[in-house]
Order: sequence, then structure tokens, then C-alpha cells
Amino acid sequence: MKFCPRCGAEMETRTLLDYQRRVCPQCDYIYWNNPLPVAGALVVDERGWVVMALRNEAPAKDSWNIPAGFMEWGESAEAAACREVQEETGLEIELTGFLGSYGAGRREWPWYSVTFIFFYARQVAGTLQAGDDAAEVAFFPPDALPDPIIFSSNHHVLRRWEADRRRGVGGALGQGSAWAQIDWSAAVDCDHTRE
Ligand SMILES: [Zn+2]
Repeated sequence: MKFCPRCGAEMETRTLLDYQRRVCPQCDYIYWNNPLPVAGALVVDERGWVVMALRNEAPAKDSWNIPAGFMEWGESAEAAACREVQEETGLEIELTGFLGSYGAGRREWPWYSVTFIFFYARQVAGTLQAGDDAAEVAFFPPDALPDPIIFSSNHHVLRRWEADRRRGVGGALGQGSAWAQIDWSAAVDCDHTRE
């Protein structure tokens, strides 16, 4: 970040709390460079097959990935995962467990990183059809996943999935019951002054 988004002065790099950050010498604005959260779900059916989507947009057009996307303002990771799966695959899902989270960044983009948050899920309604930024969506068995699969986070997810299947984790086997019946859509008021 070259210029301060608050006052427009040129920013400088300082080490603050163990990391290099961009700081405004004029108004003391600090660009903390926190990661952006991306939420998604590995949808497993009763056969133990998973939904993958073929991307039709950059980056990584023509590669397969697990449905996921950026969270919207005030949204929970759970609600974002359900929304993204619905938008990309047409499936309405319920979450059956937490799969894992993965931090990812690129050295070429030092001022940008994301944290992937993945859940296990199963279909409860809807019809499989490619939606937003997907050219094709389909269920695949664990021993015949499509190729190529993009994003190191997706490969971490698939390794965790394999380990969880061996451990007999219900969500990984498509046998999980609803993780919790909570209204994930409820936004939380984050006005700390009222606490
Ligand atoms: Zn400033």
C-alpha cells in the first residue's frame, strides 16, 4: 500500500508487533495486513463422493476447486460457506462439521493474504448445476478426483479429508448429522462500546 487510505500521505514500512507493516507517518494509520477470510465447504454425499467445481474465471481458469468464496460484510463463515456452495453448485447444504482453516499468501503479493475456512457439509435440497464462476460441477469419488486441482489450501483440505475418513469422522464420510441447528445468517453487532 503506497498511499494512506485515510489522509493520502505516502506510507512507510515499520516493524510493529513482529511483522513489517505499512504505516502513515502523517496520521499514524496502520495497515495491519490481516488476511481476508474465504469460506467454503466440502460437500460429501452418501457414497462418500465430493463436489468439485471447474473454474471459468481467472485466477486458475480451467482448474478444479472446492466451492468457496470471500465472506461478505458482517457474515459468519458458516453462512458464507452455505451461500457460496449454493451460488456455485445450486446445492442447499447443511454443515456437518469443521474441516480446518489454512492461511495462504504469495511472496509476490506481500500485502495480501487469505485464510481459507472449510467445513464438511451434505446436500439437503437443490439440484447440482454450475452457477457463479463455475463452468461445470460434479461429484467425484476420492480415488478419481478431477485434474488439475488448484490452490494449495485445496490440497490440504483433501489430505485432511483422507485422514478424517480413516479416522471415521462422520462428516468426511457423508454420514454426519447436522453439526448444529443454529441460524448462521444472524449478523453480530460488533459495537464494542456496548459490551
Ligand atoms: Zn495518513
